[in-house]
This record gives sequence, structure tokens and C-alpha cells, in this order.
Amino acid sequence: MSEDFYKLLGVERGASADEIKKAYRKLAMKYHPDQNKDNPEAEEKFKQLTHAYDILKDEQKRAAYDRFGNAAFDGSMGHPGGGKGFEGGFSGSFSDIFEDMFGDFMGGRGGGAGRGGPARGADMQYTLEISLEDAFKGREAKIKIPLNDTCDKCDGSGAEPGTSVETCPTCSGAGRIRQQQGFFTIERACPTCHGAGKAIQNPCTKCHGQGRIRKDKNLKVKIPPGVDTGRRIRLSGEGEAGMQGGPRGDLYVLLAVKPHKLFRRDGANLHCRVPITIPRASLGGEVDVPTIEGSASKVKIPAGTQTGQQFRLRGKGMRILGSESRGDLYVEIFVETPVNLSKKQQEMLKTLDQDFSDEKSAGKHSPEANGFFQKVRELWDDLKD
Ligand SMILES: [Zn+2]
Ligand SMILES: [Zn+2]
Repeated sequence: MSEDFYKLLGVERGASADEIKKAYRKLAMKYHPDQNKDNPEAEEKFKQLTHAYDILKDEQKRAAYDRFGNAAFDGSMGHPGGGKGFEGGFSGSFSDIFEDMFGDFMGGRGGGAGRGGPARGADMQYTLEISLEDAFKGREAKIKIPLNDTCDKCDGSGAEPGTSVETCPTCSGAGRIRQQQGFFTIERACPTCHGAGKAIQNPCTKCHGQGRIRKDKNLKVKIPPGVDTGRRIRLSGEGEAGMQGGPRGDLYVLLAVKPHKLFRRDGANLHCRVPITIPRASLGGEVDVPTIEGSASKVKIPAGTQTGQQFRLRGKGMRILGSESRGDLYVEIFVETPVNLSKKQQEMLKTLDQDFSDEKSAGKHSPEANGFFQKVRELWDDLKD
């Protein structure tokens, strides 16, 4: 079905919903299988028209079609949570359209039961917060989500256990009925059983005949090592129970990695800010650095290390999803000014300060400050001119 939907229906791209509906109605009458017995070409054409109309009549689908063309509906774009794109298959769209177009003539849809019949359970999304350690190691998490699950009393049948479920007399169990309307045979949900195909004599007391009950479902989710915020894990068939024998929806677990006290994550790499004392920064030495696996690594700091200097520990970062390798750990040093000094310590620092100010060592120990004040002097000189 690669032909342009607008061309197929013989309308302009900017056609109104009404124009599209009229064009479809006219062509559908012409190519309807009941009018073209044993004509597979007409049937194929009718299917194409119906498919095109099904998409163009829906504002959102039409917008998607206008933007992406057929790619929006053939599943190639991927619709997480939406199954296979928007398309509901031919039989589904067929009845929808006819109910939509002729529902008025037929006295509405009856009983407000909607479309009836088996329906797939809804997909569910659950946001799971995990620690950075868990994102590193991976783990199995237990989650509890409230959802519509199969009623355990009636096993989803909707009938009180031990009572009989009879075939619906109106539709003989099909759940849908066909009615002749002019040229057309119209198929719609059975008004008696609302599509179930069954007549329940005694509805289940626990679910009131719904076949589903609200409950908390306990599930286990396997979190692979290396995951990051935004990663979705799909648990197929763990969403809501279907209606009237329909399949279950899926459950999507959306991961959110909590901020860490010590590490900042940047993809596969980790950053850690480590304070060191002025003497250690000046003299150099070894610093203990924490790692995400819970141990410590020693990092050699050269004499004269400044605030902001980084040291890289290869392979000490996060695990990379689906791989055995790891990112790196960046250790960023900051030199901490000492506080709560004793008298003796203050004296020692004063001596050091005087020593730094001596004519012969001026500027030698603080190249940055020296450069800075040099620039300040130049600025003042410039202002004088
Ligand atoms: Zn029940
Ligand atoms: Zn029925």
C-alpha cells in the first residue's frame, strides 16, 4: 500500500474531513465487495480505500501521515507501548468505520457499551528509582503495581464459579452481528452481550461480571548492569488483563537513576570531587579515592597540585550496558583552606606567609597570583595614560 492516500481517495492534501468522508463514501460504494462479487481487484481497492480513510479521518493519524508518510504506520518507526503502530488491521478498522458512518441511522451504538468484544489490556508504565550502585551492578528489583488483573475468583470468565455461561442467543456467540443496510452489510458489536458472545446468568460477585479486578501485582524486574535514566524495560504480557478474553497489555518499567552523594555520572564516566589539604597539595602524595564498586583506589598527586586538576582512573567508571568494559573515573581535586586553626598552627602559617613575601621568593610560590597581580598593575597603568 504505497499509493498516496489523498490520491487514492481523489482529494487534495488540504481537503477537509468532510470532503474526505464524502470521497470515501462514494468510492466505497463503488468498490464494496458486496457490489463486486468475485472481483479480487475491487476487493483489494476497497481495502486500500478503507485503510487510507481510516488514517485520514483521524486527526492525529493524518498529521502523522502528512509528516512521515506510510512509515508512520508500517511499524518501522517503532511505537514503544503502542504495539504495531496505529494500525488495527483490516477487520478492526472496517467495523469502526461503518459504525462511525452509519451509527446515526442505526440508532446509535446501543447501551453505551462502546465497541465491545475482546480487547487487549492496557500497557502500563512504572517508574522505578534505582541507586547508582544498582545501575552499576545491575540487580533484580521487586515492584508492586496496582492494575486491572484477571479476577482470581472466576478466572476472568465473569461468571460466578459453578454457574453456567451460555452462548449469547443474539449473536450465537460471535460477539458481533451483521445487518443489511442498503448495499452494505454492516458488522457491529452485539448489543445483547456487548461483544462477549456469552450470556452470564450469575455474574461473579468479586468482579461483578467484569472478569477483572483491581489489585496490586508483585513483579520482579531484572535490571542489567550499566543502565541509565530513561531506559525502559519491557515486560511482555505483564500489563493489564485483557477484556473478554483479549490478550494482556505490556508493562514498561522506566528507570530513573537517583543522584549519588559522591559521584556524578556522565554516560559511562564518573566524576568525583576530592578535597585535599594545602600541605598535601603542596608536597604531593597519595590520596584515597572511592570507587563505585565500594572499594578505594590510591591516586598519586604530584607536588603543586591545584584546585580543578583532574586525574583519570581508567576502567573505574560505570559498566557499559551490554558490554564487559567500563568507563573511566575522573578525580577532580580541590584544595581546601584549613579552618579551626590552633594558636601554634596560626603561628606556623604566619611564618610561612612572611617567608612567601620575602624579596627573594616573591611570586615564586604562587605563579597564578603573581600573574594575576601583574595584570592588575598593567590595568592601572593603562588607566593612568
Ligand atoms: Zn470474577
Ligand atoms: Zn451477543
